[in-house]
Amino acid sequence: MTQGSEMASDQGSTGTHRQRVIDNHGHIGKIGNTVVPDAYLEIADEMRLNEREHIDLMDAVGVDAAVVHCMEDGLPLCKELLKQHPARFIGVCKQDERTSFTDEGLERLRMYVEEWGFKALYYDPWPPEARVSQGMDPAEWGDPDPFHHLYIDRYAPIWRLCESLRIPVCFVSYRQNFEMLWSGLLKIKARFPRLTIVVIHGIDPRSLVSDDGGVTMPEQAVELVRQHDDVFLDLLPGLDGMRGLPSRYGPNDEVIRAYYDTFGPTKLMWGTEFTFVGKPTLEQYRYQFDYLAQRCPYMTEEDLGLIRGGNAVRTYRL
Ligand SMILES: [Zn+2]
Repeated sequence: MTQGSEMASDQGSTGTHRQRVIDNHGHIGKIGNTVVPDAYLEIADEMRLNEREHIDLMDAVGVDAAVVHCMEDGLPLCKELLKQHPARFIGVCKQDERTSFTDEGLERLRMYVEEWGFKALYYDPWPPEARVSQGMDPAEWGDPDPFHHLYIDRYAPIWRLCESLRIPVCFVSYRQNFEMLWSGLLKIKARFPRLTIVVIHGIDPRSLVSDDGGVTMPEQAVELVRQHDDVFLDLLPGLDGMRGLPSRYGPNDEVIRAYYDTFGPTKLMWGTEFTFVGKPTLEQYRYQFDYLAQRCPYMTEEDLGLIRGGNAVRTYRL
C-alpha cells in the first residue's frame, strides 16, 4: 500500500466493501527522533522504530492501522502522532492509577479522549510486586489495591466516565491476577453494562495451558466473555515463535483453538506488541501477521477478517 492507505476506509472508491486490517496491540517507540517515554519496557533506544518506520512495516504487510498503547508521560507526544496520522494509529491512553479516579484524573481522561483523540483507556496498575521491583511503594495505590480490587467503589467513577464517553477499557490479564480478575470484571459489567472491555493478553494463556497442551478455563472468565457481546480477548499469535520461546498458547496453540471454540471469531482481536518486540523487523511482523492463516486452518477468511480488523473497528468505533 502507498500513501492512499492514509485514507483507508471500509468503503473503497468503487463502493465495494473492504475489511480494514487492524493490529490491535502495539506501541510506538519514537516519534521523529524523540523516544517516547515509557517506564516498563526494556528495549534499547536504537531498536525503537519511529512512526514512519512503523507505517512502512504496516504497508509492507498490509495492515491499515495499529492500536498503540501509550504511557501517560508520552501522551502529549502521542497526541501529535494521532493528529498527523489519524487513519494509521489508534491511541489508547494509560493513566497513573494513583490519581486516575480523582476529579482531576477524570478531567484529564476526558481531555485525552475529547480533545486529544484517544479512543480507549488502558487500565494496568501492574502487579504490586512489579511496582516494588521498579522502586515504587505499592501502598501509594491505596488499600485495597486496584490490581486485585478494581471493582470497588473508589474506581467506579472511571468506569462510569468511560461508559459515558463510549470508550473501551483495556484491562490486563496476568498470572498474578488470574484468580481475581474475572469476578471483578463481572461485577463491573453488572454495574456498567454498556462498558466495552478488552482483556489484554486474553485470558492469561500461560495460566490456562498445561505442558501437554491441556486447556482449562476458569468458569467466570468463560461467563464474562460468552455472556457479553462487548467483551473481547487480545490475541498475540506468533509473538514467541521467532524469539525461540515456546508458544504461550501451548505446544500446538491449543489455547487459540480453545478461545475460538468457546467464544467464536467475533470475540478475538489480533495484535503484535509491535514495535516493542526484541527484533522489530519486517520478517517478524509478517510472521505474526501470517500466523493464524498458516497455523489455524479451522479459521475461515471471514474469521480472519474479523480477528485481524473487523472486531477492532467495532470496538474502537473506527
Ligand atoms: Zn503491549
